[in-house]
Amino acid sequence: MRGMSSAVHVVGGGLAGLAAAVELAAAGRRVKLYEAGRHAGGRCRSYLDAELGCRVDNGNHLLLGGNKAALRYLARIDALGTLEGPREAVFPFIDIGTGERWTLRPNRGVVPWWIANAKRRVPGTRATHYLAALALRRAEPSATVGKVLDQHRPLFRRLWEPLAVAALNTGAEAASAQLFWRVLGETLGRGGAACRPLVPRDGLSETFVDPALAHLREQGSEVRFGALLRALSFGTDRVAELVFDSGSIELGRDDSLILAVPAPVAARLVPALAVPDAYSPIVNAHFRCTPQAGSPLFVGVIGGSAEWIFRKREMLSVTVSAADRFVDRPAQELRQLLWFDVAEAYRLPSYPVPPARIVKERRATFLASPEQLWRRPRSQTRWENLLLAGDYVETGLPATIEGAIRSGFAAARQLLARHDTASERRAVDVSVPESSCRNGKAQQHVLP
Ligand SMILES: Cc1cc2nc3c(=O)[nH]c(=O)nc-3n(C[C@H](O)[C@H](O)[C@H](O)COP(=O)(O)OP(=O)(O)OC[C@H]3O[C@@H](n4cnc5c(N)ncnc54)[C@H](O)[C@@H]3O)c2cc1C
Repeated sequence: MRGMSSAVHVVGGGLAGLAAAVELAAAGRRVKLYEAGRHAGGRCRSYLDAELGCRVDNGNHLLLGGNKAALRYLARIDALGTLEGPREAVFPFIDIGTGERWTLRPNRGVVPWWIANAKRRVPGTRATHYLAALALRRAEPSATVGKVLDQHRPLFRRLWEPLAVAALNTGAEAASAQLFWRVLGETLGRGGAACRPLVPRDGLSETFVDPALAHLREQGSEVRFGALLRALSFGTDRVAELVFDSGSIELGRDDSLILAVPAPVAARLVPALAVPDAYSPIVNAHFRCTPQAGSPLFVGVIGGSAEWIFRKREMLSVTVSAADRFVDRPAQELRQLLWFDVAEAYRLPSYPVPPARIVKERRATFLASPEQLWRRPRSQTRWENLLLAGDYVETGLPATIEGAIRSGFAAARQLLARHDTASERRAVDVSVPESSCRNGKAQQHVLP
């Protein structure tokens, strides 16, 4: 009975914390979720931009069909229907320098015959160029994408580099080759079905956050906003207490904690915890305009300042990853610069530049360099009732929605497995040895 009434405290209402909470609640555990802010979603949420007069996402987020954990999470919170995307894996590109346009179309199945078809692959490339990427599989842990792949080939500039920068939020010269190989293995390596692009139809919060909160409330979980965890008190081998501004919460003998806060916060709360300590910025520009119906849902930009442009209902929205070169430039300058590429890609007038919101996330994700990957901690800690979750935890993936959700699921499953083992142990304690049955003393073995 103790196991049933024990609580799991989840601190941090980003996708890692939400995924853990949703998984635990679905398994019938008593969940209490604490979020420091007034909204959940962390680095993946939408809000009303009063100046633009519409809701914006903090940053454009793209999912792929191969993001199994993310899709499972959305199925769990009944939000799969809030995604939209083409039926097949189609990636339209424009080269701003040459004006060339093409659409990358990996075929559905696992055998990549698309690389042999000039109409499906990148112009100026050959099938053998793609096979050269297999060198990533044998890359040393310290190798970077820029070192392993031939940077002089058009394929590097027109495909591998933009994919690596988008997925790892790290320039190819610094990005871990092994991690990029892992991403390719879960997407292009599994065929076009795993590359099908998916984006939220209305907004990030409408897809990833609001349905999760509704689901948690339906399950009877407690969700507290404005709950900033200040400190943890530790016993010899357990977390004993959570210290919030509003007061402290003592953990019962069977209570557990999943700490799903960003890496620097976790490092402040947990003694001697090493975490990635170099970050990479992302810049987004949201242009308020009415895009033409039927124009592409997104376009990859080569050789420009913008990298990916997304069509939304009331705006065209630009993402620049690993945006160190832009993060200190004035918003007005970025607005002009990025609109030039948007106008080109969506065949719009380059003047006047529509009203825009420039969002600079300086610490968008950790830098996915080989050195930083070595600093990623495991979910388990030396405290038996404390698990870590978050995109920085060792998931084998870069800091992404998929990584964050996978970490939350993994922490939840570890707790459930421990709980099952503990219950089994108790069940063994309460199970009735044959001999006892025979001699009629079974009750003596039943625990209170
Ligand atoms: C601009 C941008 C664009 C991105 N684009 C993509 C993309 O296209 N595809 C993709 O897959 N990923 C993308 N990502 C990455 C993705 O958003 C993150 O990897 C993911 O959201 C991280 O989730 P998390 O739960 O690990 O951390 P967070 O989202 O940081 O959540 C942590 C939560 O903990 C809370 N918290 C902090 N301190 C405390 C405390 N002391 N007490 C209580 N609560 C606390 C925070 O308020 C926050 O809500 C992007 C990120 C950014 C910033």
